Amino acid sequence: MKLESLLRKNIRNLKAYSSARDEYKDITDGMVFIDANENPFNTDVNRYPDPQQSKVKERLSQLKELQVNQILLGNGSDEVLDLIFRAFCEPNKDNVIALPPTYGMYSVLAHLNAIEILEIELNSDFEPNVEKIIEVQNDNSKLLFICSPNNPTANSFQAKNIERLIKSFNGIVVIDEAYIDFSEQDSWLSRLNDFPNLIVTQTLSKAYGLAGIRLGICYASKEITSVLNKIKPPYNVNQLSQDKALERLNAIEDVKIEVKTVISERQKLAIALKSIALVKEVYPSNANFLLVKVDDANKRYLQLVEKGIVVRNRTNQPICENCLRFTVGTFAENEKLIESLKEL
Ligand SMILES: *Cc1c(COP(=O)(O)O)cnc(C)c1O
Repeated sequence: MKLESLLRKNIRNLKAYSSARDEYKDITDGMVFIDANENPFNTDVNRYPDPQQSKVKERLSQLKELQVNQILLGNGSDEVLDLIFRAFCEPNKDNVIALPPTYGMYSVLAHLNAIEILEIELNSDFEPNVEKIIEVQNDNSKLLFICSPNNPTANSFQAKNIERLIKSFNGIVVIDEAYIDFSEQDSWLSRLNDFPNLIVTQTLSKAYGLAGIRLGICYASKEITSVLNKIKPPYNVNQLSQDKALERLNAIEDVKIEVKTVISERQKLAIALKSIALVKEVYPSNANFLLVKVDDANKRYLQLVEKGIVVRNRTNQPICENCLRFTVGTFAENEKLIESLKEL
């Protein structure tokens, strides 16, 4: 794969903005910093944040056993995905491929960036239609989005399907691993060095319990991350988010315990749901939610709201007719859901 030939021409030739904090990184005591027009009086955040988020990346690089220069951070995965679009996709010319039912942002970002989106529905077993994807790609297909575990179907795709797609797609394959910590399947991070056209995205929004700080992570070759780095806004991850992320990444054992609890609650919830009459099917889950087919999703959705429980109605998504999506909550929240469904 020639990265150069996949990149947009204007991006290839772009020179990055050099911020004051890029030129001089080490804010050590005893130095006078009068280079960035900041307010000199201490508020804890009167200084611009580290544009390279070095401390957070160093911790992630230890945890994931990757080089720091294979990591790029963004203001949520949504910013990371947007940067990927802007690096590779020429508006009104290129296209991307997504596999519905899946995460809605791929389509939103495609439209926002004036990029055509080719949608190849999953098969009825919620696996990618590999043959059709390979057949439909053309010279302008730049990105293929694979969400695994997939939202909202909750399954991880079979590794052999994903590997075939990575090997036969002519552009960049983006594997969105927002839910990987809840999965029994291995992350594709361990294969990053095998595939120059692979990008893996993760987030601190789900397993790490930090949706509010907006921290998305992109792992890729150092060639790809250096391009994305060039086009990201200089101070895209604020200081409070960097501090909070580092604190949480240093308490990784707590995160692991919470993830284990969510997985065991998910299993209990799945069993309890299966004994309820209006529930027609509980699909296997590798995520922190369950996709559940009921008798009448629109009706049950409204009834649950009346009982003070807000779930996600996915009935209008392809192959998700009459499906609701339940996030796994606390023990008490899951009990309340079960009790309410029983009353219905
Ligand atoms: C929740 C979710 C994300 C997270 O996005 P952030 O912007 O990092 O909060 C990404 N991808 C999928 C598939 C999700 O469901």
